[in-house]
Amino acid sequence: MEYRPTIGLEIHAELKTRTKMFCDSANDPDEVRPNVNICPICLAHPGTLPVINHEAVRHILRVGEAVGGARADFTEFDRKSYFYPDIPKGYQISQYEHPLVSGGELAGVAITRVHLEEDTARSSHASGKSLVDFNRAGIPLMELVTEPVIHDALTAGKFARELQLLLRTLGAGEANLEKGEMRIEANISVSSTDTFGTKVEVKNINSFRSVERAIAFEVDRQIKLIESGGKVVQETRGWDETKQSTFHQRFKEGSADYRYFPEPDLPKLFISEIPEFSHETLHTSLPELPWERRARYAKRYALKESDIAYLCATKERADFFDAITATLSGEKYLITLAANYVVSDLAGIYAKSSVENYATLSAEAFAKLIRLVQSGELSSRGAKDTLLILVEKGGDPETIAKEQGLIQVHDEAALKAAIQSVIAEEQKAVEEYRAGKEAALQYLLGKSMKATKGAGNPALLKELIVAASIDAPAKNPCGIS
Ligand SMILES: [Zn+2]
Repeated sequence: MEYRPTIGLEIHAELKTRTKMFCDSANDPDEVRPNVNICPICLAHPGTLPVINHEAVRHILRVGEAVGGARADFTEFDRKSYFYPDIPKGYQISQYEHPLVSGGELAGVAITRVHLEEDTARSSHASGKSLVDFNRAGIPLMELVTEPVIHDALTAGKFARELQLLLRTLGAGEANLEKGEMRIEANISVSSTDTFGTKVEVKNINSFRSVERAIAFEVDRQIKLIESGGKVVQETRGWDETKQSTFHQRFKEGSADYRYFPEPDLPKLFISEIPEFSHETLHTSLPELPWERRARYAKRYALKESDIAYLCATKERADFFDAITATLSGEKYLITLAANYVVSDLAGIYAKSSVENYATLSAEAFAKLIRLVQSGELSSRGAKDTLLILVEKGGDPETIAKEQGLIQVHDEAALKAAIQSVIAEEQKAVEEYRAGKEAALQYLLGKSMKATKGAGNPALLKELIVAASIDAPAKNPCGIS
């Protein structure tokens, strides 16, 4: 039997704003002291009134504009009622009937809706106690729901990565999964017919790789269950990172249980009547979007697709590359060379240190390094060594290369002197070369490189050795012993 998996994603992301969603308590994700960014409103004291955060609404509308979704003419907030210690009001203010954005597409996946709500407090449980930190209560939260149109784990992972990149590009949020700033839930079902199978929701996924692994695991689990005569039940499952498997958490409640109704303490929003939120104003406020940047790299620099994917995978990396290209003033050959060095050598250095930090490495210094390679003053080996020092300590590549004795010597007189001594010592190899043995030339080149401490320009050295070997007096011209 052939089974087709169907996956829909629900992604929550905390938005980057100065204050919380409905009060003026600070929205500070780096605050580590518990319960300091709180006030009577986000603690749900009776009689307090929420006020809509304008910046948060704008973030969602810009996301909508970027993905080509339709912004709502009319929108309102709703109360989603449920009881939990991390939800002090006994309800969460969310959006139900009228999301801010409907439709759109990202990374080839159709989006159902994007709406705005508030985050819950953070509970922690340790040594028989339960603690609640209300710093997070009321932080603006984006919820994005995709259509159930994903059929494989990799597409889901790609979508989630692209969304993180988009949020960072727009300045709407940092969306760090490990910090819980972005939370991914996957609704997964499998079916051998045209109708959808029973869907299972998987939560607690805290890395992009886990998104892919959790989906692959769950698809496999459901197929095996059906094949063995079992039935998939509608439930919420968690992802166990250690065991690399999903586990039962609870059976799913229907949406009717939440008793949604419009929040009476907040005004309705007639978005189309707010000039700042017009399609034109939102559109002109957008920076270059990730896919637009990729298209530019392909068109202007004709870089390889895999190189473009690497260069544009994070905003910092792409911004760094853009700064290099600006310094290299559009010289295409140098830009291709620079791309190669970022994708291979620099990536290699960062992979080893497992920190990718563009703070110490200036784009100007990197561009200068590329010019040294192109002019032949630095060999590719010399460039590697110089780059490592540049990344670790910063500085000027030319100064570093000189200090390390890596600048290739183009001075013919200096090189000739080095070659003369090699030729004098390696008469046998010179004879062999003159007899037509090419390997002997390589040997002589190696010796000469060594004599110049690796700083000789190889092409020039080779030329000089050939000339010197021919000129050198033969040791035994008559071949008579
Ligand atoms: Zn507050």
